[in-house]
Amino acid sequence: MIYFPHTQSCGTSTGVSVPCMFSSMPRTQYDAALASHQEGLLDIVQRAGINVLWQENDGGCKGVCNRVPNKDIPSIAAPGLCSGEECYDEALFTGVEDHINQLNSDTIIVLHMIGSHRPAYYRRYPDAFKQFTPTFDTNQIQNCSQDVLTNTYDNTLLYLDNTLNNAIALLKHHQDKFNTALVYLSDHGESLGEDSVYLHSMPYAVAPSQQTHIPMLMWLSHDYQQQFAVEETCLRQRAQTQSYSQDNLFHTILEMLNVTTNEYQPEWDILKGCRNRTA
Ligand SMILES: [Zn+2]
Repeated sequence: MIYFPHTQSCGTSTGVSVPCMFSSMPRTQYDAALASHQEGLLDIVQRAGINVLWQENDGGCKGVCNRVPNKDIPSIAAPGLCSGEECYDEALFTGVEDHINQLNSDTIIVLHMIGSHRPAYYRRYPDAFKQFTPTFDTNQIQNCSQDVLTNTYDNTLLYLDNTLNNAIALLKHHQDKFNTALVYLSDHGESLGEDSVYLHSMPYAVAPSQQTHIPMLMWLSHDYQQQFAVEETCLRQRAQTQSYSQDNLFHTILEMLNVTTNEYQPEWDILKGCRNRTA
């Protein structure tokens, strides 16, 4: 797993960041109305013959998946993983194994995770992941000490780690048939009481770094690195030193799926400088 510690979001809310990161527009030029009327990343890759599946577990894809196959996970209600309208993120794997087994073409599967979303952090993980204690088990987070709030949030991260681990295990399980890779990034950050600020959605220009600094991770199977001539050592070095943002996602994924389009701008492709095409 390669971690990109210097990564910024497009917005401070799901409704801004999700459509922004799947659009060709960079943050500084992002226009939500325009994005909703033009093809996004998934429309383009689908038109290029890539099989697309969007698994939804965060209350909606904000228009990004409207024209591609998508499944609303809470309405499928995996036994033991859902309660009411909310599911743990492990429910995102519902049906994915069967989906992969019937695939005969290149594919992208998007798992839109609820992750650590507000405000009920304690409802984002099963009991087995309540490792940091004491936790705060109500929505009224302003009544919670920062240590206890952080414990509760850290448990959501522990569970996220587990979900990503399961996703990689799933990809490894199918690597006899597919060259696989995984990209993870958050839609935005979260304030946990720093300077008495909580949650997210602050106007971008005045938002604290906790809301705009996001985690990004990449895992490339050995076969994928070989086929696409990606030098992992190079990528690890760049990841540590360079700054990235959600603006990189559109162009990086296009190239990772080997889709050729005029929309592709190599200067935004994270892997670009670490490909050895002569290899
Ligand atoms: Zn969000």
